[in-house]
Amino acid sequence: FRYGEVSEVVVSTPNQPVIFGQNHPLVVVAGPCSVENEEMIVETAKRVKAAGAQFLRGGAYKPRTSPYAFQGHGESALELLARAKEATGLGIITEVMDTADLDKVAQVADVIQIGARNMQNFSLLKKVGATGKPVLLKRGLAATIEDWLMSAEYILAEDNPNVILCERGIRTFDRQYTRNTLDISAIPVLRSLTHLPIMIDPSHATGKSEFVLPMTMAAIAAGADSMMIEVHPNPAKALSDGPQSLTLEAFDQLMKEMVVLGKFF
Ligand code: PEP
Ligand code: MN
Repeated sequence: FRYGEVSEVVVSTPNQPVIFGQNHPLVVVAGPCSVENEEMIVETAKRVKAAGAQFLRGGAYKPRTSPYAFQGHGESALELLARAKEATGLGIITEVMDTADLDKVAQVADVIQIGARNMQNFSLLKKVGATGKPVLLKRGLAATIEDWLMSAEYILAEDNPNVILCERGIRTFDRQYTRNTLDISAIPVLRSLTHLPIMIDPSHATGKSEFVLPMTMAAIAAGADSMMIEVHPNPAKALSDGPQSLTLEAFDQLMKEMVVLGKFF
């Protein structure tokens, strides 16, 4: 399997080439769950950049449990991500859910995200892999490590070595106090099996902003290469995932605490 081959993922962004991998400084991806309007995405981009993030995240196409929940602004949100990129030089990470949107997403995204719910959408994996663009592959809600690595292999098999694995919490039995359970043990397990870069998303894992900082610290201690953090200028008004989103100020604080742990800057 190609997932066992030595690799690091280099992503060119307007500001700089960013390297994801074990022997490189921690990479931070931050931004709102959904791109809501120009003002909020540009403001968030500027603030997370000032705090030290290298990538802006933000959903245009959102995989929502309810068909009546906000589904993302789609194509117009991609345009807003392009403006935030122009304003800051940050790299852009955004999700593609449907192969029909792939060309449009690939035009603005420096890294294409495959969400947890699509981890085993094999036709999507093949087509995204074939673009040659870096791919962020989130772990499925109930995927084993082997399932996950096999999904990565679908992308690698398209001759695209640029896969980043993202642990975002798995389903266990407690839905009251945490949204999912962050599988910290996945980090050393993956290290023993693959050289692919490992990202941790403590926001979707916990579902609660007050638990994001301790889980970020735990993930860095366990050896994660990169972090994905949801940040919103006004979490109480967010159109999706407000409860787990950090304010801009809380994100500043988190970045300061991460510097203390080293492996950063
Ligand atoms: C997201 O990153 O906004 C998202 C929907 O994540 P996941 O696929 O991990 O639920
Ligand atoms: Mn979200």
